[in-house]
Amino acid sequence: MSATASAGMLDLTDEQQDILATIRQFVDRDVIPHASRFDHDDEFPTEMVETMKEMGLFGTTIPEEYGGLGLDLVTYVLIVEELSRGWISLSGVVNTHFIASYMIKTFGTEEQKREYLPRMARGEIRSAFSMTEPHAGSDVQAIRTRAVPDGDEYVIDGQKMWVTNGLRAGLVMLLAVTDPSADPRHRGMTTFIVEKEAGVAELEGLTIPAPLKKLGYKGVESTELVFDGYRIDKGQILGGEEAGLGQGFKQFMAGIELGRVNIAARGLGIATSAFEHAIRYAQEREAFGKPISSHQSIQIKLAQMATKIRAARLLMLDAARRKQAGERADLEAGMAKLYATEIAEEVALEAMRIYGGYGYSQEYPIERLYRDAPVLILGEGSNEIQHLIIARRLLERYAI
Ligand SMILES: Cc1cc2nc3c(=O)[nH]c(=O)nc-3n(C[C@H](O)[C@H](O)[C@H](O)COP(=O)(O)OP(=O)(O)OC[C@H]3O[C@@H](n4cnc5c(N)ncnc54)[C@H](O)[C@@H]3O)c2cc1C
Repeated sequence: MSATASAGMLDLTDEQQDILATIRQFVDRDVIPHASRFDHDDEFPTEMVETMKEMGLFGTTIPEEYGGLGLDLVTYVLIVEELSRGWISLSGVVNTHFIASYMIKTFGTEEQKREYLPRMARGEIRSAFSMTEPHAGSDVQAIRTRAVPDGDEYVIDGQKMWVTNGLRAGLVMLLAVTDPSADPRHRGMTTFIVEKEAGVAELEGLTIPAPLKKLGYKGVESTELVFDGYRIDKGQILGGEEAGLGQGFKQFMAGIELGRVNIAARGLGIATSAFEHAIRYAQEREAFGKPISSHQSIQIKLAQMATKIRAARLLMLDAARRKQAGERADLEAGMAKLYATEIAEEVALEAMRIYGGYGYSQEYPIERLYRDAPVLILGEGSNEIQHLIIARRLLERYAI
């Protein structure tokens, strides 16, 4: 285990250690040597995902009674960190699934849990979550996708944007407006569990255009979803029609808050990878007759990179522990997300500087890490929004 790794900061059980050792081995052997090729070809990592399925990773936090591993959030974030150390897109495949399973586990009816969680745990169906629209990202309350009741069904019309796993997912947690006159608007929003055929772009009432072209975070698709008269049974409202109608915004925000701890872990994975590559390279590469690691300016970079990673890790573990204990954790999750994702970008750039010109070359993984990091700053509530969340909570706490 490396000098910056989380496990050294925790008293892990034997089970946790075994799981993390298995994932680390998988990442070192099956992911790191191939990640850049998959990234450059923008290819979905089918075999890696199959191995993740076999390891039970799609059911990591799903309770054992529904066929999952029933692991806690701290173990989950350590797993995500490891996967992201290999390739962030792998954690992208499980991330939306993890949020969707959390939402069903927390807000679903017993029938919905029995229907979906066991299949989700086995990875038979993988999931996406969809709230963003072309005109509304940060301002979730401005979404326009409508769900109108019609007998025992709802009819959905509208366009969704940036749906990670949008094509390959067999299940999409969808946020739609059910009461446009609600005031405040968020009370008129509802979550629908959209079950669809995975990998099919043309369905009745639903079209999935070709994946969006991206800077990084490749291999895993981000798509639009175009609903045009899509019919869905009212039984697909998360939590059931009676309890779930108008609860969608709250359910999504709970999912996203959990997602923030998870995204901090992804930032740490990228930063750790960049650091580990850089400290090795700094000892191999010579300039002016000695390894560049003997030059003080490089040493300062390494020291700063490792210190930032360690600070980010403590923030992430603190937020994960609080969330796991059922405590309010919006401040801590916001801080962890903000800091870990900002330093991921900084550390990736520092690694590029240490690599010099080779950091810019596709022969080395640094350019991939550098392209992958920014998505974490933008997603799951941009870092500008994290500042607002953190400040709001601080002002509550320190109100005079
Ligand atoms: C690769 C990728 C995958 C994604 N996956 C998903 C997914 O699976 N599901 C999903 O629903 N969404 C997903 N998203 C969408 C993502 O969550 C949004 O892009 C994000 O919420 C920002 O929204 P926006 O892009 O519309 O930017 P905008 O909301 O238009 O923001 C533009 C800028 O204004 C700033 N800003 C906005 N409001 C404020 C404010 N009040 N104060 C200060 N600054 C503000 C923002 O921080 C940003 O800098 C994904 C995005 C990407 C790029």
